[in-house]
Amino acid sequence: MQFNRFMATALSIALLSGSAFADNAPQRFDAQFESYPTYNGDDLELAIDNMGTHFKLWSPAATQARVNIYADGHTGKPEQTIPMSFQPAKGVWVATVPGQQLYGKFYTFQIEHGGKWLDETPGVWPKAVGVNGKRAAIIDFATTNPAGWENDRGPQVKNFTDVILYEMHHRDFSIHPSSGIANKGKFLALTEPGTTNQQGLATGIDHLKELGITHVHILPSYDYNSVDETNLPANTYNWGYDPLNYNAPEGSYSTNPSDPATRVREMKQMIKALHDAGIGVVMDVVYNHTADNDGSNFELTAPGYYHRHWDDGRYSDASGCGNETASDRQQMRDFIINSVKYWADEYHVDGFRFDLMAIHDTETMNQVAAELKALRPDIFVYGEGWTAGDSPLPVERRALKENVSKMENIAVFSDDLRDAVKGHYSNASDRGFATGKPGSEETVKIGIVAATAHPQVDYSKGNNSKFPYATSPEMVVNYVSCHDDLTLTDKLRHSMPEASDSLRMRAAKLAQTIVFTSQGTPFMFAGEEVFRDKKGVHNSYNSPDSINAIDWTLKSDNADQFAYYQGLIALRKAHPAFRLTSAQDIAKHLVFDKIDSEKQPNLISYSLTGNAGGDEWKEIKVVFNGAETAQTVKIPGGTWQIIAIDGKIDPAGSLGTMKGGKVSVPGTSALILARK
Ligand code: CA
Repeated sequence: MQFNRFMATALSIALLSGSAFADNAPQRFDAQFESYPTYNGDDLELAIDNMGTHFKLWSPAATQARVNIYADGHTGKPEQTIPMSFQPAKGVWVATVPGQQLYGKFYTFQIEHGGKWLDETPGVWPKAVGVNGKRAAIIDFATTNPAGWENDRGPQVKNFTDVILYEMHHRDFSIHPSSGIANKGKFLALTEPGTTNQQGLATGIDHLKELGITHVHILPSYDYNSVDETNLPANTYNWGYDPLNYNAPEGSYSTNPSDPATRVREMKQMIKALHDAGIGVVMDVVYNHTADNDGSNFELTAPGYYHRHWDDGRYSDASGCGNETASDRQQMRDFIINSVKYWADEYHVDGFRFDLMAIHDTETMNQVAAELKALRPDIFVYGEGWTAGDSPLPVERRALKENVSKMENIAVFSDDLRDAVKGHYSNASDRGFATGKPGSEETVKIGIVAATAHPQVDYSKGNNSKFPYATSPEMVVNYVSCHDDLTLTDKLRHSMPEASDSLRMRAAKLAQTIVFTSQGTPFMFAGEEVFRDKKGVHNSYNSPDSINAIDWTLKSDNADQFAYYQGLIALRKAHPAFRLTSAQDIAKHLVFDKIDSEKQPNLISYSLTGNAGGDEWKEIKVVFNGAETAQTVKIPGGTWQIIAIDGKIDPAGSLGTMKGGKVSVPGTSALILARK
């Protein structure tokens, strides 16, 4: 999601509007919600046992409630409507259909609030839904598990810095004719082995295995609002940052959205196939806002409670999408925690990427991480440490990048490295370190040390962060591009308008070499390894496939680029020196060479010394030259194995050796040397 980091620290509008009412000393709009009883049982909304089918809706302020039972997920009138009775101690409304397990049926809730009946809602906890997610579905989850599911397990992760993230959208990845995939745009696309482009190069899951990434990070895959699931052939494109039902998969990625079990089964099949390939699955989760305001399931279930508001009653909008949720309220906090635990448990999801994480409070995020850790210690949690607008939540409580050290087992994206390497995200023509613009050397170094305290990094010279916000490299995710903003290719085309694509590809290689050799966790956007673009569209959330699809013939056209990414990933996986696990180790083993950036701009050189992280290499030399002309660096004497030079890379050593001394590093390239 887009963000505006300047707004994150802007003067609170709440204070301004509050003062306008000061004479009347109004009761804070949200104050009533603090007195609501909460309910955290795992039988919320639907539970089935031998006694029957039980409904339990949390809605403390409703004056009446009822549940409607349907035969169909989309059309027709209710077969029965059952009044619910209130249990004030927990704030829940209950009803039971005795003696019947209503598998195959659908249901909605309706509450009376403020003297009127609100629209029907599937509630906030449907785990299966009818087409377009308007009615909850009652299915037997035991029937949705693929063969071998009970033994399914994602890759075990020792340290989060070992993870290599690959951010992909289901439709981008498989929809293009060149993918050779049968289930284009579907969960099942990732279950197809042996697919190729027309030149016979691997696509799909085989491509991921060949590339070597450890985890795919899938863009929103819960049920979102924008794509009409009743008209599959016309399926339009959307990123999916418009949440409808948080605990059921999106229907348009299934082969039959009208059958509630199909999307569940197919998403599990996808996860199983990835796990069988040794690849973990991270879900992009968007608990920070709902697609609709008054019409959201939260609002129709417990009006006012789940969203934040300004004192005058307006929805606050830190998401930039019309509203924001209130993680600081107990029932919402429990909802988020139970939801991620549900995905981790029922779907075996290996990690969560929190969209606009700073809309949530640090306490909620700490509880999320702690409860997931108790479930499985290697579930990776990271997020965007910013908001897209101001929030009533005080800055010090927000899960901001700057507050990451107040959180445990949570990482944040480094916009420091991102913008320093390629130029500012919102200014298309701006260049960065890798594209010849001087002045970002210190900020790149902040990225290299994963924003930890380092004796040779002067944070006062940082373009963005002014202090070492991370106390461990496991708190930082480094990247140069993602689904938001221009792809790396488009950014290079915009900012280097006179350059050839071959020079831009050198810049892309250099930029990613910085990401993949930096401490922290590396992250890449799908298709960058084949130099994919999005035709210059920076906010392609609803652009057609012609913009968003990855054309896999690029893998043949840009085979050299793909091979370089493979080499980068292989280098990182084989050498723990690039994956150090403590700030102390980084400060001790990562030593920058003194370079005067006034005289030699766009040049960074450092060593990883003393078999860093237990590496078989005693010493590694890493040099980045972001200038277009060659620059000279001093390499310690003796013989070095060449790992990367002049746009080529091979961690296995086929590039030969060189002697130390004064060494010329070609323009727009990285030099990596090593010795035992
Ligand atoms: Ca949907």
